[in-house]
Amino acid sequence: MRVKVKAPCTSANLGVGFDVFGLCLKEPYDIVEVEKLDDKEIIIEVNDKNIPTNPDENVAGIVAKKMLNDFNIKNGVKIKIKKGVKAGSGLGSSAASSAGTAYAINKLFNLNLNKLKLVDYASYGELASSNAKHADNVAPAIFGDFTMITNYEPLEVLHIPIDFKLDILIAIPDISINTKEAREILPKSVNLKDLVNNVGKACGMVYALYKKDKSLFGRYMMSDNIIEPVRGKLIPNYFKVKEEVKDKVYGITISGSGPSIIVLPKEEFIDDVEEILRDYYGTTIRTEVGKGVELIT
Ligand code: ADP
Repeated sequence: MRVKVKAPCTSANLGVGFDVFGLCLKEPYDIVEVEKLDDKEIIIEVNDKNIPTNPDENVAGIVAKKMLNDFNIKNGVKIKIKKGVKAGSGLGSSAASSAGTAYAINKLFNLNLNKLKLVDYASYGELASSNAKHADNVAPAIFGDFTMITNYEPLEVLHIPIDFKLDILIAIPDISINTKEAREILPKSVNLKDLVNNVGKACGMVYALYKKDKSLFGRYMMSDNIIEPVRGKLIPNYFKVKEEVKDKVYGITISGSGPSIIVLPKEEFIDDVEEILRDYYGTTIRTEVGKGVELIT
């Protein structure tokens, strides 16, 4: 018996929604296949030699082990992962594998867990890859659309469906940014004016989704004065590119902790913007909002 799923990449933060907002992308995605084994062992195969296959180091192995133990399952699993994007790009690569594994194990062993519980299990993988059980990538990977993490212990996830077309461009600069380092450079405290600005604009982005107003959503996404000014310096030409595309996009910001950049192009300029991004960064992906982990077979 085996279950094969598509597990999507995600973009966390979206500017003012630091550590809270997450958006599911239709592409790229991992393909995760989990097969039931008679022996109680976990075997991992990955098509990317930079990613560990040791089940105690690969996020998929960590999630699988926790679920098999918690439900006292005597079987083991073989997990085959086909990566959609390299790890450390700021596109929730490890979260995609974690979410895909949690979803597949739930199906394979008929555990009947709800989506919130799957997010909780998937976030054990994030604990291993980034030292924090953060759920801002695994939540949109499981629920799809747009999510907000509003509480930990107990975990609370708010999901907002997006039922209008939103074009998304992703630029993937060819550098890696260590998530830990990208956190360490952040300010330890913020002033009240910046806090009020971010709370107001984050609320405005949720209102914009409700009104299907891409222009308002993108404008507020770009109005963070706390995180982006610091992290933007780690990405070559980030502020130059932002200035160059500003009239052709609804919004542009750093995806997760970078280096990837998420751009919401105005429909009539999508080709132009993609070309500019490609000139600067080489790799771009054209995508739209995704609907979360999907069963293939
Ligand atoms: P990302 O947001 O792209 O997942 P992170 O920096 O949060 O990037 O996590 C990447 C780390 O997780 C890397 O050290 C990588 O080796 C490790 N990792 C373990 N298992 C996986 C997996 N299945 N997919 C991607 N990364 C994994």
